[in-house]
Amino acid sequence: MSDKELGFSTRAVHAGQFPDPSTGAIMTPVYLTSTYVQEYPDKHKGFDYARTVHPTREALQKNLASLEGAKFGLCFGSGMGATSTVIEALSAGDHVVCGNDLYGGSYRVFTKVFARFGVSFTFVDTTDLKAVEAAFTDKTKLVWIETPSNPLLKITDVRALANIAHSRKAKLVVDNTFASPVLQRPLGLGADVVVHSTTKYIGGHSDVVGGAILTSDEGLYKEYKFLQNAVGAVPGPLDCFLLLRSTKTLALRVERHCQNAMIVAKHLLAHPEVAKVHYPGLPTHPGHEIAKSQMSGFGGMISVELKGDLERAKRMISSCEIFSLAESLGGVESLISHPASMTHGSIPREERMKAGLSDGLIRLSVGVEDAADLTADLDRALTRSLKS
Ligand code: PLP
Repeated sequence: MSDKELGFSTRAVHAGQFPDPSTGAIMTPVYLTSTYVQEYPDKHKGFDYARTVHPTREALQKNLASLEGAKFGLCFGSGMGATSTVIEALSAGDHVVCGNDLYGGSYRVFTKVFARFGVSFTFVDTTDLKAVEAAFTDKTKLVWIETPSNPLLKITDVRALANIAHSRKAKLVVDNTFASPVLQRPLGLGADVVVHSTTKYIGGHSDVVGGAILTSDEGLYKEYKFLQNAVGAVPGPLDCFLLLRSTKTLALRVERHCQNAMIVAKHLLAHPEVAKVHYPGLPTHPGHEIAKSQMSGFGGMISVELKGDLERAKRMISSCEIFSLAESLGGVESLISHPASMTHGSIPREERMKAGLSDGLIRLSVGVEDAADLTADLDRALTRSLKS
C-alpha cells in the first residue's frame, strides 16, 4: 500500500520501518557502528561510513519525511544543526529575509556566525506582507519564518509568503517546530523547506536533542545531503531510535497538548492578574483566522504578560510546582520560562523590544498532565507572586 493512501497516525507508527530481516525484531535496531564491511573496494550493501549513511537514521529520515508530506528527509544532531545546514547552502553576498520573532539561537547563528561569512539577514514582522516585500533585495535567496513564532506565537500566512518568495525567485523555509507536522504541513501550503528542532514535540519526552530538514525539492535535498556528510552535524543512532519511538505517539500527545493549552489559555485570559495572553487558538489573537486556515489545531505553547513589574513575573515563574522552570518545550511535562533572560537572551534588548518581546513575557509549554492541576498550579503561583 502506498504511503499516500495512509493516515497520519498510521504513517507515524510505520513509515520508514520494517521488521529486522535477521530476527523479526519489530523495532528498528540501534546500529552502533561507525563503518560497514565491504565485499570488494566500493562493493557494499549501500552503507560505507556512518557519517554518510546510517540505517537507524535512514528509518527516521523516511519517517519524518512521510509525516511532513516531503519526498526527502535529513536528520541532524540538533535543531541548530539543521538550521545551519540550510544557511550553509548559501554563498557570501546572499541575503535572507527573516521573521523578527525567532528562536534566540537562530538569531544568534544568523547574526554572529553566518554574517561573518558574508550572508546578510533582514529581520521583519512577517505577519506584515508589505514589510516582507520591502525587505527583499536582488540578492535575496531565502525567506525564513517560524509560525507560530517563538515566543510571541505570531501567525504568518504561509501561502502568501510562498507566493511572495516564489515571485522573487527565492525559497521559503518554515521552522515548523512549534506546530509539529500533526498540526501544520508547510510544504503542502507552498513552502520549499521545513526545519524542525526534533528536541521538542517530535521527541516529546525531553530526553533527546535533534533536528531535521524536510523538502520535496530534489536540488535542495542534494545540496543539504552533501552538507550533512561534508560538515557532519549528524545525530547518533540511539537519538534516532528515541525519535522513531517518539513519532509513534506524536499525534496522541499533540492532541492532548492542544486540549490542555486551550483550557489554560482561556483560564489565564479570565484571570484578574493577567494583562495579556498570546495563544493563536483565542479568537482575540490577531492571527486566529490564518491559523485556522493553515493549522488543524493551535498547539501547546502560550505566552502571557502579567500585571505588575518584572520582579513579579520572576516570582511567579519560580513559584510553580507542576510547571518546571526550564528552557525547551514540547515535552509531556509542562515547562515555564522567561524568554528575555533564557531562550532569547542572545537577542539585544533593543531588538527584542522592537519585535514586541517585553522583559516581563512568560512562556508556557503546556504538557499532557491533567488540565485542572495545571490551572490550579498557575493560580497558586499567581497568588504567591503577589507577596514580595
Ligand atoms: N527552532 C525553534 C523554534 C526552537 O525553539 C529551537 C530551540 O529551542 C530551535 C530551533 C533549535 O533547536 P535545538 O535546541 O534542537 O538545537
